[in-house]
Amino acid sequence: MSTQPFADLHIHSNHSDGVCSPRELVDKAAKHQLRAIAIVDHDDVSALDEAFAYGRERGIEVVSGVELSVRNEGREFHLLGYGFNAHDPTFSAHLRLFKEKRLERAQQIVDKLGSLGMRVPMELVLEKAGHGTVGRPHIADALVEEGHVFSFQDAFNRFLGNGRPAYVPSHRLDARTAMEMIRKAGGVSVVAHPGLDLGEALVLRLLKLGVDGIETVHPSHNAAATQYFSDLARRYGRLQTGGSDYHGGGQGAATLGHYKVPYTCVEKLIKRLQKLQE
Ligand code: AMP
Ligand code: FE
Ligand code: FE
Ligand code: ZN
Repeated sequence: MSTQPFADLHIHSNHSDGVCSPRELVDKAAKHQLRAIAIVDHDDVSALDEAFAYGRERGIEVVSGVELSVRNEGREFHLLGYGFNAHDPTFSAHLRLFKEKRLERAQQIVDKLGSLGMRVPMELVLEKAGHGTVGRPHIADALVEEGHVFSFQDAFNRFLGNGRPAYVPSHRLDARTAMEMIRKAGGVSVVAHPGLDLGEALVLRLLKLGVDGIETVHPSHNAAATQYFSDLARRYGRLQTGGSDYHGGGQGAATLGHYKVPYTCVEKLIKRLQKLQE
């Protein structure tokens, strides 16, 4: 029987669009016998302190993490950050600004919906967002609750999807700036789930820009994709990470414990962090 330890480096908490609290996630990690986890909330690091403290209590190693919404040459995608100082002033200031801009944008979307005759109370949208940074999914939920649309998907198809009448683009950092910011906060950056929709050219561009790693294990990657990105990471001498992208709740509820990487990935990540500090 193998006793190789594992890690899940892609988990969402209720500080973004996940369902579980940081404590519940640490408990789940213990249940699935993971040695280490990273909570990577969307553009938010407020879950980390609770996770660090409770992780120490339960003997689960918690690596700081975040999943940033970025853009590069007209493309929008997710960039993971790991091992940074969650209280770095510049980084914190950016995340605060980001949160404010998201709030302004949500209000603009709600105003557009209002002018289309679909009145949605902003309080309801914020209630849906809870701890997390407000986004279109919360507005979609509110539209459903107010009876303006048949379903979450209907809300996107008719109003909120890119190019639809209530669409407002979101504030995003350029990938290069985001990578620098993570680096300055003492962390490393990793291209999130490149197999989902990134395409080879963009991944190669990010490697050239100096991204530290590639997420190779992810529920959206089949065996061939994992192999492909793993070979690419090796060829460029970059890190490999991976995890479940667990959000809890309905869809994908069973991913935690199934999508994981050998703990050696964490050791390599820590080695790279140390090297950056030399
Ligand atoms: P935001 O960051 O506020 O632009 O919201 C992005 C999120 O909205 C994505 O992570 C998806 O969950 C959801 N989303 C975006 N476009 C669609 C779409 N066409 N259909 C369903 N969900 C979508
Ligand atoms: Fe998410
Ligand atoms: Fe993502
Ligand atoms: Zn994610």
